[in-house]
Amino acid sequence: MATYKQPCIHCGTLIDRDARFCPTCGSQSPFGYLCPTCLRPIDRSQTICQGCGRFLHITCPICGGTTFVDERCDVCGTYFLIKCPNKRCGVMQFFQNEKCTACGTKIKDKHRVLTPPVSAQQAPPK
Ligand SMILES: [Zn+2]
Ligand SMILES: [Zn+2]
Ligand SMILES: [Zn+2]
Ligand SMILES: [Zn+2]
Repeated sequence: MATYKQPCIHCGTLIDRDARFCPTCGSQSPFGYLCPTCLRPIDRSQTICQGCGRFLHITCPICGGTTFVDERCDVCGTYFLIKCPNKRCGVMQFFQNEKCTACGTKIKDKHRVLTPPVSAQQAPPK
């Protein structure tokens, strides 16, 4: 059986078509974008998810720029995923999600810690 490879849309690495995540950048949707809330396939040109109705472009809480609901902010590169609080699940969730898409655990942590990119962390204090 031949193994077909396809480039990851996030980093370009050629990976197996049936891979569930990219081994290079860690993306869980290497071949297309998925709605972070209902996991339907989405496209950058869409405004609203047809599955759950969420907006697919949001204001980044770190830089204030408008970004697609990707794993990282288009503008500043902040990583938008947080870990499910259920220790036996631990699936990465979009920081705006109210519930884990894998196990349904409520994500009630008000201090959803986002990790700004290194360049932002090194900005000189005012
Ligand atoms: Zn990748
Ligand atoms: Zn959706
Ligand atoms: Zn940003
Ligand atoms: Zn979970």
